[in-house]
Amino acid sequence: MIRSGKFGDKSILLIDREPKTRNDRTWCFWEQRPGFFEEIVYRKWERISFRSEAFDSALHITPYVYKMIRGSDFYDYCFSAIKTQPNIEVVYATVNNWWVTHNGIELVLDDKTYLLESAIVFNSIYEPSISRNDIRLLQHFKGWVIASPRPAFNPREATMMDFRVHQRYGTTFTYVLPLSPTEALVEYTLFTKELLKPAQYDEELRSYISAYLGLTDYEVKEEEFGVIPMTNQRFHFSSRDKQATWQIGTAGGQTKASSGYTFQFIQKQSEQIVNCLVAGRPLHSIPATPSRFRFYDNTLLHILYHDQLPGKKIFTDLFRKNDAGRVFRFLDNESTLADEVKIISSLPTWPFLKAAVNQI
Ligand SMILES: Cc1cc2nc3c(=O)[nH]c(=O)nc-3n(C[C@H](O)[C@H](O)[C@H](O)COP(=O)(O)OP(=O)(O)OC[C@H]3O[C@@H](n4cnc5c(N)ncnc54)[C@H](O)[C@@H]3O)c2cc1C
Repeated sequence: MIRSGKFGDKSILLIDREPKTRNDRTWCFWEQRPGFFEEIVYRKWERISFRSEAFDSALHITPYVYKMIRGSDFYDYCFSAIKTQPNIEVVYATVNNWWVTHNGIELVLDDKTYLLESAIVFNSIYEPSISRNDIRLLQHFKGWVIASPRPAFNPREATMMDFRVHQRYGTTFTYVLPLSPTEALVEYTLFTKELLKPAQYDEELRSYISAYLGLTDYEVKEEEFGVIPMTNQRFHFSSRDKQATWQIGTAGGQTKASSGYTFQFIQKQSEQIVNCLVAGRPLHSIPATPSRFRFYDNTLLHILYHDQLPGKKIFTDLFRKNDAGRVFRFLDNESTLADEVKIISSLPTWPFLKAAVNQI
């Protein structure tokens, strides 16, 4: 909104329960061109690798580049732009409730109620609401930024998925994002119904670093932990109150159910919202995600949730039998039908057919 230069005459209130002071997450995503946040891309890779016993290969991802943005850089960048805008006020308080009245939107902030008149509200507070038939897996991960006393990493190549780790808990892989020859972010990731105990993530990270990176004498410089919902829950852009509030981010269904990737979907949604407001078009004219992508995501989720095929086999087949560009387009919901026919035919037919029939 700031960059468009079109909202200077509006008063904008940004509410969050706490200031963003920690480097609480690292975002990775792919894109073909310099993106909206190019200035703060911390590292980027033109080569990524996929590893499992059945397929171990460097993938050439041209025209894509795999990029990393650190949470702390993102927050600093955004808030330094916000600070230059006299029409934007930032308030730190917890939103406890809101409802629509004839006069506007009443908002309960901490324990006080405020009336917002003639306001459009964008809400990114995620409230899981699972109904009986909903499937909910958790993508959970713990990552360490480690520093090795000697060169141990190739900064030109990131490992996107390493499935050589044991699969006792369910679909599990590690990724390794080298920051320099001596530093990398190593992240242990699972798609399962339950979280592990905190010590288990540490144990698995230690064992991966020693078994596959050959390191024992390293320093853990930073750590992060995250949980991303992977669910077939139906998300609605316009929320409970007839188009007075709009759901954005994960709360607005921008997390891809089958992969957990969210960052780029949020950027695309934000751009659509801004374009719509600038053009004076109603927000509900923004098209929903094509239903076929929801269908593919739910089919894959169904298979993983019911253990009908190991995630390791599915992702191995996906990367072994398709070039990375096609897989990225598919994961971006930007594939053509021809791409999708190729992707579907690279996966085991029978379990996917059964799961697809179940979705229908
Ligand atoms: C550790 C981590 C790593 C991730 N890595 C990737 C990645 O590599 N690639 C990718 O595509 N996606 C990734 N994701 C997923 C996704 O991109 C992020 O979760 C992203 O931050 C989602 O943005 P959001 O705006 O929906 O939610 P958030 O960034 O979580 O923002 C929601 C905001 O609402 C505030 N809030 C919540 N409740 C209240 C309340 N009651 N009152 C006031 N404020 C409230 C929170 O403080 C927060 O600031 C990651 C997620 C995590 C947690």
